[in-house]
Amino acid sequence: MKLHKIFQSIALSICFAFLAMTFLLISTEDVSAKVRVVGSIPDFAAIAQEIGGDKVEVASLSKGYQDPHFVDAKPSLILVLNKADLLLYAGLELEIGWLPPLITGARNSKILRGNIGNLDCSTLIPRLLEVPITKVDRSLGDIHPGGNPHYWLDPRNGIAIAKGIAERLKEIDPENASYYDERLGDFVRRLSAKIKEWDEKLAPYKGTQIITYHKSWVYFSDWAGFEEVGFVEPKPGIPPSPSYVADLIRKIQQMNVKLVIEESFYSQKAPDLIAQKAGASLLVLPSEVGGRDGINTYSELFDAIVGEITSKLANHGKG
Ligand SMILES: [Zn+2]
Repeated sequence: MKLHKIFQSIALSICFAFLAMTFLLISTEDVSAKVRVVGSIPDFAAIAQEIGGDKVEVASLSKGYQDPHFVDAKPSLILVLNKADLLLYAGLELEIGWLPPLITGARNSKILRGNIGNLDCSTLIPRLLEVPITKVDRSLGDIHPGGNPHYWLDPRNGIAIAKGIAERLKEIDPENASYYDERLGDFVRRLSAKIKEWDEKLAPYKGTQIITYHKSWVYFSDWAGFEEVGFVEPKPGIPPSPSYVADLIRKIQQMNVKLVIEESFYSQKAPDLIAQKAGASLLVLPSEVGGRDGINTYSELFDAIVGEITSKLANHGKG
């Protein structure tokens, strides 16, 4: 009889222990259940981190020093997408060569087009540039039929992107809506103040003629008031031939071109030659967060770009 009682109490305490553990597990899971956000490029991930704070876990599929048109579709990226609650991407076919197969491989219905976890950030941009008015034909090069996809290089668009991301986070995680709103407000205030500061730095250089490697700086130039007078690529995505480079040099020798801008993942050979012949300075600039060590936020990206451009232009012609 006594033995029976002892067994009963042991069994009961084991039951309680299990129950307690289960509750503990459930509650810790609830507390730590972060919204998993994945950006196709680090800029979207960085903005999402600023809006989501400790309620999100962010990752980027590509690195800021990689050409965003051509990313290696590694199997590890499929795993990242498989667990994602929200996918942020540039759209306008920027990622057409690598993102669709990754999404298919991920087998995650949350991030499929039309679902709440799929955010094409181009839909947030109030004014897209270079939207073709005639039918697009691939012979024109890597032309994007919906417009130029490099819109994150105008910081004013960063505000629109942040607002769109906050809206989605609130839909996915309504319990923390006021947290996201508060952080969005803070982000917009900080970025707006920086934009004012960059505007003032760039103001003396309005109308500066530049040449860029790829048509990836059109939004930046539109904001900074620069005039793009030529491109190292004859057509987007197509590297220049020697005769094209010679023609471009002839064309620009009479012009007052001050800057040639390119990203580090493009060859410097032709841009170097063009800059020399035009009497211009060549600037190899980061175009994304993580494009260089020390650029970890969206704002730091523009600090670097605006800082380098304005100091180059201030010293131009001073030998
Ligand atoms: Zn492009």
